[in-house]
Amino acid sequence: MSDTGSAVSPLAPRSCLNPAVTLTVLDPATEEPIAELEQAGVEGADAAVARAKAALPAWRRVAPADRARLLRRLASLVEEHGEELARIESRNVGKPIAGARGEVGMVAEVFYFYAGAVDKHSGETIPVAGGIAATFREPLGVVGLIVPWNFPLNIASWKIGPALACGNTVVLKPAELTPLSALRLGELALEAGIPEGVVNVVVGKGSVVGRRLVEHQDVAKIGFTGSTEVGAEVMRGAAATIKRVTLELGGKSANVVFADADLEAAAAAAPYAVFDNAGQDCCARSRVLVQRSVYDRFLELLVEATRGVKIGDPSSEDTEMGPLVSAAHRETVASFVEGEPAFRGEVPAGPGYWYPCTLVEATNDDRVAREEVFGPVAAVIPFEDEADAIRISNDTPYGLSGSIWTRDGARALRVARATDAGVLSVNANTSVRVQTPFGGFKQSGFGRELGMHALDGYSEVKSVFISTEG
Ligand code: NAD
Repeated sequence: MSDTGSAVSPLAPRSCLNPAVTLTVLDPATEEPIAELEQAGVEGADAAVARAKAALPAWRRVAPADRARLLRRLASLVEEHGEELARIESRNVGKPIAGARGEVGMVAEVFYFYAGAVDKHSGETIPVAGGIAATFREPLGVVGLIVPWNFPLNIASWKIGPALACGNTVVLKPAELTPLSALRLGELALEAGIPEGVVNVVVGKGSVVGRRLVEHQDVAKIGFTGSTEVGAEVMRGAAATIKRVTLELGGKSANVVFADADLEAAAAAAPYAVFDNAGQDCCARSRVLVQRSVYDRFLELLVEATRGVKIGDPSSEDTEMGPLVSAAHRETVASFVEGEPAFRGEVPAGPGYWYPCTLVEATNDDRVAREEVFGPVAAVIPFEDEADAIRISNDTPYGLSGSIWTRDGARALRVARATDAGVLSVNANTSVRVQTPFGGFKQSGFGRELGMHALDGYSEVKSVFISTEG
């Protein structure tokens, strides 16, 4: 299943392993090692692709109802092991346990959804001269799935669910910082009865294993979630073999608050929209755009709401924000905050990669408003009117997500239609639902995950003409 047989066992003695390939996995809240894994190299990636290729013919022949049954079994195993998976994810990423439980709940829902979708993603019959044409949805083959460290299990499931439903076999490469939940999921897939070789998990460096999957002749598609920078590299690497790619990349989403909005509700929801997962969220509404006539009042409300965010031990039930994922990432986040912010929260003493909730008053030209911070830092920016709000909201290379707060329904729809982003919410800050398509405009990528749309990204349409001429 994985190239790292002892991967999730307790910390192995360092001397047992070759330090050149050993990966030490840390708990970001304590900076303590929690696992040591052997990393695969190019050979490990090739071996996983070979296993996935060997498993493909039999997996394609599994009857749709049986494939659906196996996915349902995986979903229920995820539920049964929900607490264990949530604790692995919470410890490895530094996520509050309550949020991690919610994410694992979504993973099960994703597998249930795609179990139900297996036999509903059908072709058409098309009347044409001399006969009839039928279309079929064929699997692509072996797909490489490369995922980031911020929602490791969730994002893996968004790709594995539709890929398996369409009859593909997969090689999943988790991020180096957070491989533990993916390895456990690989074991659960086997326990569910999904045949050996259909789901392969390979731990290794992006620049080695990831790159190898991108360039491999026998990999038909790369489902990638990560930074825009690496996404561009994946796209370049995929060109040589005309590989299909789905790219879910960075974001710089706007939370647009009009003067006619329920300001209390908008302010109460705003911290979750940017500080959830310590801001390490591609959908983070990290630009808070506020109509000038209510700017001062809203900022006051926002500061109050942000002061209430509970930061601390991720394993505590009432913690709302944990640490950042690594020391290096904390340095990057800190580099965005210059001068005295409008608000800076507290952080726990002691070890851990903590960074406080931070509100910065900015213009849309400032670096903090232009680049993805990927940490708990929000830029608060005034706007004049509806046209100005749309202009500022779209003045970014990204186009992933966003929110619009107003009591005027027509305005909400006008602004939503004029916003260059793939996933928007009105009077709410949520972006992700199992049933609805998720993905970006512009440099936030292309292709859609979740909902029935994701199935299009894991299948080819084949047209077959049948003559009816005597
Ligand atoms: P990253 O781009 O550094 O890494 C993502 C994955 O790509 C990792 O598994 C990494 O090992 C691998 N990788 C690195 N170099 C590679 C290469 N040359 N070839 C192939 N694979 C390679 O991103 P990250 O730091 O892990 O995650 C943060 C980024 O992910 C942010 O930009 C965030 O916005 C983005 N993200 C996007 C979404 C979305 O759905 N749009 C969701 C979550 C995160």
